[in-house]
Amino acid sequence: MALRIVLLGPPGAGKGTYASRLMRRLRIPHISTGDMVREEIKAGTPLGRVLKEYSDRGELVPDDIIIGILEERLKKRDCAEGFILDGFPRTIPQAEALDKITGIDYVININVSDEIIVQRLSSRLVCKRCGAIYNRLTLKPKRDMICDICGGELYTREDDKPEVVRERLRVYKVRTKPLIEYYRRRGLLREVYCKDIKADPEVVVDEIISIVKEREL
Ligand code: ADP
Ligand code: ZN
Repeated sequence: MALRIVLLGPPGAGKGTYASRLMRRLRIPHISTGDMVREEIKAGTPLGRVLKEYSDRGELVPDDIIIGILEERLKKRDCAEGFILDGFPRTIPQAEALDKITGIDYVININVSDEIIVQRLSSRLVCKRCGAIYNRLTLKPKRDMICDICGGELYTREDDKPEVVRERLRVYKVRTKPLIEYYRRRGLLREVYCKDIKADPEVVVDEIISIVKEREL
């Protein structure tokens, strides 16, 4: 039985960190539209240049563009057994488009305070090569500024600068938060909470796994 999961939550909720761990434990792909956007920008394609305009300002990419990118990705064979969506959908039209593309089994809403979000994003580090996520305060790499997984160099994302973080949080509240109600009405929503910035991410990962395993009982 395929397992199709959406992770919902504000920027800095830990979606990417949880999703990459869930991928390893559930053996289904982690699909991050944010990572796909950054890849395209890095590749320097004409589409990448358009995406960069939005991303650097903390704005959402237009729905039709991101829906097209996601739809192509979900057609790949590795999605047959399910997937973990991270960063999609972000707007009601995206959620409606997703409903037309595929069914969804669980929507996990990650609850965190604004205080934790700002602390996390201001100290976040990302691997240039593989996209792995670290944190200067809480999830330090073993070697300074070097990725534990691939040895790549770590950097601070353009959109993790404080002014841009504020804009991303504003955009989240206006455009993405309504999705909580959208999925609650469909009976798909499950809540998890991250109350302590120093908590091991595995605690939340275990909780999500116990939620998605419940249907096998
Ligand atoms: P965050 O850490 O804020 O969740 P992401 O890494 O998910 O950010 O995404 C980075 C940027 O890529 C976003 O600010 C936005 O410009 C673009 N993006 C990613 N996913 C979407 C989406 N579903 N809809 C529109 N824009 C998106
Ligand atoms: Zn790496």
